[in-house]
Amino acid sequence: MSSDCIFCKIVNKEIPSNFIFENDKVIAFNDLNPQAPVHFLVIPKKHYSSLNDIDSKEAFADIFSAIPEITKKLEIKEYRTVVNTGESAGQTVFHIHVHVMAGRKFDWPAG
Ligand code: 5GP
Ligand code: ZN
Repeated sequence: MSSDCIFCKIVNKEIPSNFIFENDKVIAFNDLNPQAPVHFLVIPKKHYSSLNDIDSKEAFADIFSAIPEITKKLEIKEYRTVVNTGESAGQTVFHIHVHVMAGRKFDWPAG
C-alpha cells in the first residue's frame, strides 16, 4: 500500500469504483477515460510501481491469468493488452496496471 497512490485507494475502496472482477490478488475496473468500447484495467492488490518492480513470477501470473478469466466472462475473444512502463511510454499512474481494450479495430504499431 502506497498512501498517495490512486489505485491503492481504489483497491481499498477509499475511491469508489465498480470492480468488474476481484479475487484475492487482483481487481479489474473500467478505465475512467475509455479508449475503446470496452476498456478496463487489471491491477494487483499489492502496490508495485511498474513492471520493473514486480518481484515474483507469481505476481505476473496473478495479473495475467486473470485477463482470460475476465474476457471469457465478458465473451470477448479479441482484445488489445497494453502495459505502459515509465513516463515516455505513457505511464501516468505508478501502480502497475494492464489495459485491456476491445470493441474496435486497433492499429499496429501503437502510436
Ligand atoms: P497509464 O497512462 O498509466 O498507462 O494509464 C492510467 C489509466 O488510468 C488511464 O487510462 C486513466 O484514464 C486511468 N485512470 C486514472 N485515474 C483513474 C481513476 O481514478 N479511476 C479509473 N477508473 N481510472 C483512472
Ligand atoms: Zn498503489
